[in-house]
Amino acid sequence: MANIIKKGIFSKGLKLPENKISASVPIKKLPLPDKVLILLQQHFGEPCDPLVARGNKVKTGQIIADSDKLFSAPLHSTISGTVTNITKALNPFANNIVNAVEIAGDGEDNWIELKSEPIIKNICDRLNEIYINNLNDYLNTAEDNLQSLKNLWNRLIKAIDGISDDELIKRVKNAGVVGLGGATFPTHVKLATQKKIDTLILNGCECEPYITSDHRIMLEYGWQVLAGAYIIFKVISPETAYIAIEDNKEDAIKLFGRLIEDAGLEQKFKIVSLKSRYPMGAEKTLIKNILGRKVPVGGLPMDIGVVVNNVGTAKAVFDSLSTGVPLIEKVVTVTGDIEKPQNFMVRIGTPVIDLISCCGKFDAGKTKIIVGGPMMGNAIVDLNFPVTKAINCILLKHTVRIQESNCIRCGRCVNICPMNLMPLMYAAYAKNSKYEVLRDYYISTCIECGSCAYVCPAAIPIVAYIKTAKSVLTGYGK
Ligand code: SF4
Ligand code: SF4
Repeated sequence: MANIIKKGIFSKGLKLPENKISASVPIKKLPLPDKVLILLQQHFGEPCDPLVARGNKVKTGQIIADSDKLFSAPLHSTISGTVTNITKALNPFANNIVNAVEIAGDGEDNWIELKSEPIIKNICDRLNEIYINNLNDYLNTAEDNLQSLKNLWNRLIKAIDGISDDELIKRVKNAGVVGLGGATFPTHVKLATQKKIDTLILNGCECEPYITSDHRIMLEYGWQVLAGAYIIFKVISPETAYIAIEDNKEDAIKLFGRLIEDAGLEQKFKIVSLKSRYPMGAEKTLIKNILGRKVPVGGLPMDIGVVVNNVGTAKAVFDSLSTGVPLIEKVVTVTGDIEKPQNFMVRIGTPVIDLISCCGKFDAGKTKIIVGGPMMGNAIVDLNFPVTKAINCILLKHTVRIQESNCIRCGRCVNICPMNLMPLMYAAYAKNSKYEVLRDYYISTCIECGSCAYVCPAAIPIVAYIKTAKSVLTGYGK
């Protein structure tokens, strides 16, 4: 079994009720949507320009919008059909209006011709035959399969090593791969960094309550995740890769231990089992906890020699090479106060209502619909809002109205803040629309984890104030 390094808890942070009620529900493919709405900015950086017009026929996987800027990622049609509109849509998360392409499906799912690597595809077909989705069956794989697996991994790694870094980066860029942990940072930009990177962290923490999409990806697409992580490892050439998983996902820790061994990557890849604590999975918290390093204010992990990628991103990186399938679908958990919580593989652009409708009954009168988890998510009212690359959960939650009162200066929000900020000041100044002064309090460093609001005895919606202030300061609010 590969090395497992255990890490304790960081000094701040919360122990929250986990409520991972969909953790054991296998990922199910959602039926093709009748129509999709593809927002032209669903990544960190510059928006894309549409490359299609109303009335155009499109195929699944076809690039329909792109940008010539570095910080961007192309967008693809996620179904086949006809472009019915180039329109505007409200992106409630950034509080801005973005362009969007609306496509009516033809129900055929006609794909573009995909560019895969035949040798790799062949090895993958064999790996797929041996690996099975049932974790226990796989972990009990007979010894004769083990040698066969090791040989296949050996061939896969050699095949990846034989492809140039430029070609791998080009594949990832053309596939529109972005960070799927929520940050949506274009992955090709991370891969093309000229900075010296010594550590790759694969983030499988999923520390926010309720959400189980990454956990299911690790269990059901584990070998593809590890292969994608190896591609990233090859390109950025760090000394070590850590697969970071919270200790409440013992099955994933066990599985990755075995996969690393099958792949013969024990010297390069280590598993870090982290105490389950919120917000352990936040990039900066994770780096601090594993490496003891601090990302500088206004800086990026790569400034201190670290690249962090989510497990879903690693899978998308591998798909871009093995099958040539671009990022057109992702795993979304639908959970909370609803009859049948589930994990879906869903085409990007699918209306949220399509997912909810497949999960049974819920009490519409008293349920708030949140895109994201209970700590970092945003409530939405328009259920036609589409799934984007940033969305990993739709949470239905019975609302409990608590009246906001005045700050009593208890300091709890300051004590809990993992970024050592002064949340009470954000709420106080933002309430009075004095946004500029908040730059002096490093508001841009806030990771919007919601811990401050969670502990506030005055029920002050601190994060809502922070989001408003940030959007005003970056000009989004205009
Ligand atoms: S100020 Fe930001 S980073 Fe600090 S606890 Fe509040 S939301 Fe989290
Ligand atoms: S936790 Fe709430 S009441 Fe206490 S200092 Fe912070 S904002 Fe004020």
